[in-house]
Amino acid sequence: LASREAHPESSVVDVSGVKIGGGHVGLIAGPCSVEEEDRMHRIAESIAAAGANILRGGAFKPRTSPYAFQGLGEEGLRRLRDVGNAHSLPVVTEVTDPRLVELVAEYADMLQIGARNMQNFALLNEVGASKRPVLLKRGMSATVNDLLMCAEYILSQGNPNVVLCERGIKGFDPATRNLYDVAAVPLVQQLSHLPIIVDPSHATGKPELIPACALAGLAAGADGVHVEVHDCPEVAKSDGPQALLPEQYAELAQQMKSLAELL
Ligand code: PEP
Ligand code: MN
Repeated sequence: LASREAHPESSVVDVSGVKIGGGHVGLIAGPCSVEEEDRMHRIAESIAAAGANILRGGAFKPRTSPYAFQGLGEEGLRRLRDVGNAHSLPVVTEVTDPRLVELVAEYADMLQIGARNMQNFALLNEVGASKRPVLLKRGMSATVNDLLMCAEYILSQGNPNVVLCERGIKGFDPATRNLYDVAAVPLVQQLSHLPIIVDPSHATGKPELIPACALAGLAAGADGVHVEVHDCPEVAKSDGPQALLPEQYAELAQQMKSLAELL
């Protein structure tokens, strides 16, 4: 179902009115975790003004340590929804557990499957049974074929609205958080009709590398760019060190718009 051979035309995924794929570019931005309400409004206002069209924020966080901040749960979902509504932005948030799919789908326009859960097949089946579009992130040790087969799980359950995401894979060099596999973008587009976006935030872990890698992703043909933005990275609940400031995101968004016009 995911293969280009079977479906030559590129798919367009509609996220509550925002199209991704087939020439439509999704610009997803927001903090790693859902934060305080006033901060969420500030961030959402800034990314909307910059031209982003989808707000992100995690309410259920898959953390390395069980003692690290785990997310605000349902309160975070409600807050993300309210802030998205206030700024006319659809929202995407991660779902980490098959038992939570129904709850998350009540609040979110798009369900994110994180890298750590890419091959959680029970979770894939559950979001496949949901009506919500799915953002499926590549596992950190997953091949492109693994990624496409995981999309196949979702599609085969009857949900055709899958957007793939290249977010970096494990490399040997700790100089960047992950290894940004930009070649996966045109490769996936050759093999599949599904839209694919890039996440240079998790791929690099370094704010100073994010703009170049975001633009490289678009130049390689990506259908969108996912970037973490925070107005005070030092106090972020998670992933602060890789967040772009709102003004940095605004500058990048301008560059992405200029590049999109050239392509
Ligand atoms: C995230 O989007 O905040 C996240 C945890 O991403 P990934 O699953 O790609 O690590
Ligand atoms: Mn993050």
